[in-house]
Amino acid sequence: MTPRNTRQTGAVAALAAAALTLTACGGTPAASSGTPAADGKLAVVASTNVWADVARAVGGDAVSVKAVVGATGDPHSYESTAVDAATVRGAALVVFNGGHYDDFMPQIIKNETGKPVVEAMKVAGQDEHAKPETAEAGHEHANEHLWYDLDVVEDVAKAIAAKLGELKADAKDRFTANAQAFTAKIDALEQKVDAIKAAHTGVKVTATEPIAHYLLDEAGLADVTPAQFSKAVEEENDPPAVAIAEIQKLVTERTARVLVYNPQTESPVTKQVKENAVKANVAVVELTETLPEGKDYTQWMGEQIDKLAAALKK
Ligand SMILES: [Zn+2]
Repeated sequence: MTPRNTRQTGAVAALAAAALTLTACGGTPAASSGTPAADGKLAVVASTNVWADVARAVGGDAVSVKAVVGATGDPHSYESTAVDAATVRGAALVVFNGGHYDDFMPQIIKNETGKPVVEAMKVAGQDEHAKPETAEAGHEHANEHLWYDLDVVEDVAKAIAAKLGELKADAKDRFTANAQAFTAKIDALEQKVDAIKAAHTGVKVTATEPIAHYLLDEAGLADVTPAQFSKAVEEENDPPAVAIAEIQKLVTERTARVLVYNPQTESPVTKQVKENAVKANVAVVELTETLPEGKDYTQWMGEQIDKLAAALKK
């Protein structure tokens, strides 16, 4: 190692020590905001491992990405810890869903003025201050499961590339190229969805949770789930008896060809619907809230779309 490098390493170590001191004293927050970490990588923190993986695809080697909620958590009801808060505040870029899905994130950064943020709901033009007519008819608010909307995922990837490019100008072109490679993979997934639409437009399906609303919509399928049922599950309440009877009838009478099932928000009621679907030979497609271990976003979503296509062929 040359003396020059030694000096640089020393300087970095001193900076790191200073940052640690600040944190330990509970002093000025976000002192490191926008500054690459000692390893030269930008720290990105996302609310869920889904959005973390999108950030990883775009950031590549230039970023180190952490997710607050991993494969087994339920972001709907996650309560963040002090450690999460410190990690989020220390990040150069924060990525989250919005729409009250992962409310812990805006809570943590509410006093961090100027913090670089990518919020999927805003990217999708559905932020909560948007005019009511932009929300879908019959819905009190827009569906928050935006990572099932492939166009939005592409736009989020582009938004992340733009933010990262501002934070690390020397890697700007790389981020843009990574986002392009990622969106090309998403385009391939869109072709799978188009194929479902071509073969099964108007086919009735039902779901224990409106997790895949955008995907079902894009695939031309008719989600006939009683609105009262979806609303209650979303709000983590017990659905009214009449709505339970209605969804049970949809599967036992095989009006719905497929039951979309979210195992991460399972309840005795949703389990019973699933059991009846199995008995009636209605295909059950498990679609999850977060990314399973060992898969990236495009693999996972591709497999989920394939499962849906296979179920519809039954
Ligand atoms: Zn959900």
